[in-house]
Amino acid sequence: MSDPVLTKAIKDAAIEMNADFIGIADPSCFLNPDYLGNRPQEIMPGLRSVIVLGVGIPRGAFEPLPKGRAEYTNTLMAATATLRVIAFQIARMIEKQGYRATIVPPEGSEFGYWYADRETLKASVSIKYAGYCAGLGNFGMNHLLITEGFGPRVRMTALLTDAPLEADENGSMPFIHEHCRSCLKCIDICPVGAISPDGKIGRHKCAEYMFNALGGLRCGLCINVCPL
Ligand code: SF4
Ligand code: SF4
Repeated sequence: MSDPVLTKAIKDAAIEMNADFIGIADPSCFLNPDYLGNRPQEIMPGLRSVIVLGVGIPRGAFEPLPKGRAEYTNTLMAATATLRVIAFQIARMIEKQGYRATIVPPEGSEFGYWYADRETLKASVSIKYAGYCAGLGNFGMNHLLITEGFGPRVRMTALLTDAPLEADENGSMPFIHEHCRSCLKCIDICPVGAISPDGKIGRHKCAEYMFNALGGLRCGLCINVCPL
């Protein structure tokens, strides 16, 4: 039995703390054989809910790219810090109700791929996939979640919990955004050819570019060019 009262309290609290969106994924979506990432069930046995929350990134951080990379990077990290605070308060709220909660690192930390698997560069949990399962958006060719209000210009985090929250539906949303077929702008603009028309992403190429060529500043061109 899910707990609609706690579910609503968590959602209200997140919005009150200035999250722009929040959704709850049923962790069983990670058992889909088409999902090729790491599974949150391996982190929290007894997992019952994956909470995804995010904030939109101000457009002013993208528009000057590729100049303004320092400001862009700093703005992203401000979003990361904001999400950490919101997620921490939600984790405390859940634990006060007698459940357990832990926070999945926001996508892209200050330390780049520090939280990811060293060989595959895959995160311990795909927050974007959880967001897709929770109906917050679908994927672009740039491998980012395309959200309703902000397109790919978002920062997200997630919480894993054994609290029985009400899961959101994704309404059988297509996995890839329908606009991508007639666009492909992110493929053309990537300076290192990390995005392939067959839907694959070269994580190592992207990481090498940002953390070697750019010295840790973020690129963001495949986000900025996206018309969604
Ligand atoms: S730039 Fe175009 S192809 Fe790439 S994610 Fe955005 S809409 Fe899709
Ligand atoms: S962030 Fe830059 S290097 Fe990485 S995939 Fe996007 S355009 Fe390519």
